[in-house]
Amino acid sequence: DREMQQRLWGLFELAPMGIGLFSVTSNRLLRANPTFENQFGRSVQSLDFFDQPLDVHGEPLANRPRVQETLREHARLSGLEGYFMTPGQELAPVMLHGLQLDDYGNEPVVWLITEDISERKKVDHLKNEFISTVSHELRTPLTSISGSLGLLANNAVGELPEKASKLAHIAYRNSQQLTFLINDLLDMEKLVAGKMPFRSEHHVLQNLVRESVENIATFAQQRDIHLQVAELPAVTVHVDRQRLNQAITNLLSNAIKFSPAGSSVDIFASQRRESVRLCIRDHGEGVAPHFREHIFKKFSQADSSDRRASGGTGLGLAITRELMAHMKGSVDYESVPGEGATFWLELPVAG
Ligand code: ADP
Repeated sequence: DREMQQRLWGLFELAPMGIGLFSVTSNRLLRANPTFENQFGRSVQSLDFFDQPLDVHGEPLANRPRVQETLREHARLSGLEGYFMTPGQELAPVMLHGLQLDDYGNEPVVWLITEDISERKKVDHLKNEFISTVSHELRTPLTSISGSLGLLANNAVGELPEKASKLAHIAYRNSQQLTFLINDLLDMEKLVAGKMPFRSEHHVLQNLVRESVENIATFAQQRDIHLQVAELPAVTVHVDRQRLNQAITNLLSNAIKFSPAGSSVDIFASQRRESVRLCIRDHGEGVAPHFREHIFKKFSQADSSDRRASGGTGLGLAITRELMAHMKGSVDYESVPGEGATFWLELPVAG
């Protein structure tokens, strides 16, 4: 009724988020609340404006879901992030939410909510800078501590009494763990800030896999895991050799870590036309279905007691996903709990 409608319009006027009402048929902005007007002024005439989100440097974001397409298909849109040019020619980070209503009065409309997320971006930035500074400051002394402990533990500077040797070993192992964590933190920070250089070139997949398998062979032996490499398709991929090695190593080390002693980890690949899928299968506990939405996030571990048992940081898969995105590939997995997991990398075939 009238009163209800009045109240709703009151909310619309006062809302701290921008709200724009667009006609679906004419694609025109029908009405905007004051917050929306403040954010975008007269620059927004139609929904097309929001179909061109930019990155932090003002370059068009590639591979982004399209606002209008998403609304057409799903009638709703939530949490799409991007930078948009304000009338004052500044780049503003905005989060978009939207809803398409098929009849509003007589015509279909789209409600678009625009949330100013510049504060959050500032805090994120500070947080990343902080992590980066702390990690850098920690790395140098840690390298020296770890190096010294390694020498002590391995009796390079004289035989230690048994008890002392045990303690030196524990200290050494833990200092190495800390080094892994700090290196992961620094990698993650670089990836997110776009500061990690990538040099994608043509490489033969078989060679890349052989390298990674050789690098991790000792770890597999220590855990009594048999690495079984199937015959791989003779295919050339377009990737950064070192970064891909890092991604494969992350998956292999997880597969080894989460496998029961005496079992095998299988490595195989299948080729499609434009991509090749490199698979790594283990016969461990697998991944619980509820963990799927967290597994690629930073610091996520299915069981936080894992951290001590298996010596991980919870950053490996988050880094792997970033690495793959930078190489125009992807990472995913499939798992039957109790029967193991198969993780794979989707790589772009060269040429
Ligand atoms: P980390 O291995 O350092 O803990 P990751 O990001 O590589 O961090 O993995 C995150 C979590 O995902 C692991 O702690 C584990 O719970 C789960 N996980 C990863 N790989 C496997 C696997 N092959 N089998 C079972 N669980 C896995």
